[in-house]
Amino acid sequence: MKSKGTHSKPKRLKRRARIPKGVKDKILVACRHCCCICHKHATQINHIDGDRSNWNFDNLIPLCPSCHGKVHTNYQMTQGYTTSQLKMYRDEWIQTCQILRVVAAAQNVAGDQTLEFRMTIKSLDRRVRGLEERRHR
Ligand SMILES: [Zn+2]
Repeated sequence: MKSKGTHSKPKRLKRRARIPKGVKDKILVACRHCCCICHKHATQINHIDGDRSNWNFDNLIPLCPSCHGKVHTNYQMTQGYTTSQLKMYRDEWIQTCQILRVVAAAQNVAGDQTLEFRMTIKSLDRRVRGLEERRHR
């Protein structure tokens, strides 16, 4: 690259490579900080298309160092991961994480809140019966 010139091109390149605010957090939380291939702790984010300035959510996949290494080894030598396979791994894992969240939320409801719901339903039921009894008198 050329040294600092007066034209604006280097500035524009720099701006394009900047990481959009929150995108790392979004992909890491969506994947629960897990590697999308082996589900161990993810420490790295890979750019699926190989373009390190492409910070679109759809282009990112959290990986552990071991899987990240496999992704970057020569595809023809190792039959490693294609871009479409990486996206499938990512999408499948995000779906699993969503299910895990729903299950966790359901377990919370089953714990404390179910009792509250039951009490509310019982008291509503009593009130309705009371009204009906009065009506029949
Ligand atoms: Zn992994």
